[in-house]
Amino acid sequence: MEQYEIVDDRFKSCIAGAARLEKLYEGTRWAEGPVWFGDRGCLLWSDIPNDRILRWSEETGVSVYRQPAGYSNGNTRDGDGRLITCQHGLRSVTRTEHDGSITVLADTYQGKRLNSPNDVAVKSDGSIWFTDPPYGIMSDYEGYKSERELEKNYVFKISTDGTLSILFDDFDMPNGIAFSPDESRLYVSDTGKPKSIRVFDIDDSGSPSGGETFAEISPGGPDGFRFDASGRLWTSAGDGVHCYSPDGELLGKVLVPETVANVEFGGAKRNRLFITATTSLYAIYVTANGARLP
Ligand code: MG
Repeated sequence: MEQYEIVDDRFKSCIAGAARLEKLYEGTRWAEGPVWFGDRGCLLWSDIPNDRILRWSEETGVSVYRQPAGYSNGNTRDGDGRLITCQHGLRSVTRTEHDGSITVLADTYQGKRLNSPNDVAVKSDGSIWFTDPPYGIMSDYEGYKSERELEKNYVFKISTDGTLSILFDDFDMPNGIAFSPDESRLYVSDTGKPKSIRVFDIDDSGSPSGGETFAEISPGGPDGFRFDASGRLWTSAGDGVHCYSPDGELLGKVLVPETVANVEFGGAKRNRLFITATTSLYAIYVTANGARLP
């Protein structure tokens, strides 16, 4: 199998041509939510149907970090390094404190339960932005089959004072979410119709505007994605990881033999792209470096 598909010559400066995909683990049912902990030298990621968060490190391999895990999905870290997790099971966004206790940050909006928070990004001001499609309540496979209480599939923001507010109400199935490295733009993917990533401008007060299509993703669709330090967007897709230039041109692909759900830059130099792909965790070294965390 070819390792790369080069669409634009600029992609050649993003990849180490001799680098190959490594399979670090096999045995998940739907791998999602990778997040790198450089201070602990490990990656955490969700195995949603098995209701667990797994941990991988170069030295010790794979172990169970948390089980049950509230059918966790997307993970990230806040500015204090704490784990922020979307949970299908408890229909919530949580924070794991430094002492290991878990704080619920959001689980209802105006008295109605959230659908099933999917993916999350933290802005440097401490606000937490997340998507809320119903995947975790549509069946018992990725959570608990339940009636929806909210009218729509919103994108929400938890302000630094804890207030939950609706950012967007016009997505079909909002899913991945990330800020550009300078936080001047917000990107949100839709895995309903159309399968696209939209881009919003963020003004100095932190308010988003715009929302035009950045890219339509196929085959498959755009689930989770991350930015490298040069502002390129690396997104999950049906045939691997697609890399886009900051202006929305497809540069190339890292081909992966399973459907990819999400990616994360890690390793000591943040030049190792971790890929959660259905039953497996993969990694490949690239010549891009991940954008800094908040
Ligand atoms: Mg997702």
